[in-house]
Amino acid sequence: MSQHEKPRSLLGKGGKLTMHISSHFDSGNIEVARVDDGHIAELRIKKDTGDEHMQWFHFRIDGARDKACTLRIVNAGDASYPSAWAGYRVCTSVDRQTWTRVDTDYSDGVLTIAHRPEGQMQWYAYFAPHTHEQHLDLLSHCQRSDEVVIDRLGSTVDGRDLHRLVVGEGPLHFWAIARQHPGESMASWWMEGFLDRLLDPNDAISKRLKTMATIHVVPHMNPDGAIRGHLRCNAAGANLNREWAEPSLERSPEVYHTKAAMDAAGVDFCLDVHGDEELPYNFLSGSEGIEGYAESRLPHLCNVFASAYERANPDLQREHGYPVAAPGRANMTMCTNAVAARFQCPAYTLEMPFKDNANAPDPIFGWSPERCAQLGASSLDALVQLAQATGESD
Ligand code: ZN
Repeated sequence: MSQHEKPRSLLGKGGKLTMHISSHFDSGNIEVARVDDGHIAELRIKKDTGDEHMQWFHFRIDGARDKACTLRIVNAGDASYPSAWAGYRVCTSVDRQTWTRVDTDYSDGVLTIAHRPEGQMQWYAYFAPHTHEQHLDLLSHCQRSDEVVIDRLGSTVDGRDLHRLVVGEGPLHFWAIARQHPGESMASWWMEGFLDRLLDPNDAISKRLKTMATIHVVPHMNPDGAIRGHLRCNAAGANLNREWAEPSLERSPEVYHTKAAMDAAGVDFCLDVHGDEELPYNFLSGSEGIEGYAESRLPHLCNVFASAYERANPDLQREHGYPVAAPGRANMTMCTNAVAARFQCPAYTLEMPFKDNANAPDPIFGWSPERCAQLGASSLDALVQLAQATGESD
């Protein structure tokens, strides 16, 4: 008996382990259409509740170790961003700690993963997941610092808690929020690195920042959507980053409560952290389309932040990104535009790739949780520069 075989007494009828696919866990998403004896599975990604969006998937295969499996996601062509599958490689893990990449084929609307699981239980996901338990662990870890105040802004649609962390004592009010789009788990990994450095008592940059600014952090805007395995929406089917013009307690309480907290404290800068399905780069997207942008001090302050961020971490680049909105044509339902206009402050959306940074590709891990965390930590260098420039511009 080889070390990979089970005693016959543990096996099912005919002496074979049966391949089974499940997504019944936190942030799981897959529907099993068919599994056959040849380890070929036809799978479908489920839509967000109350909406048409779908692209996030996360599932586990049991009983297929060392078998040549062919996993076909047959509705990949109906995903929210089907062109994003080109050049994409799926994330897989045995221990749920280390996620490596596997070659993935996309053709004729089908995403095919051909892989031999190394574990008796093998996990697959669109990006390394960051579960609700990990989020609660992060909050609990942060509260061990004397410097942090954690408050509960309100309830989500499903009745979960929306938490804010407040750090620092400076006169400026800097905000960082993440996971409006629940399928963008890289935003939580960014938060891990950001908060870790922000609360590091031995980091001189962090110390200086906390004398210049009070930092408000909402690390998870959409826990309901994340647990449900959604791509873009909350439990009411609302895309939270299209709710900032008129959030409501019924449809988008997560935005409603955060906006109210911003009104109470003020905002001198806001960074909204996301992931992008298509572009293989890290980039910032600004609020150039809001009324009066070009004539204000915002272009200068935005440039101070973006150029300092790029210097601090070359994984951020400014060549590739979204098209810039024409003057007066900003989408005011989005956080970055709504906050920039309301508070006349610099604001950015940060996008990280699901794929990799094409300027510095990593064939084993792709764009990884570790690199997200580094990018989060590096933002402190840019925030200090921004705080300095904001003081000079007042
Ligand atoms: Zn997003």
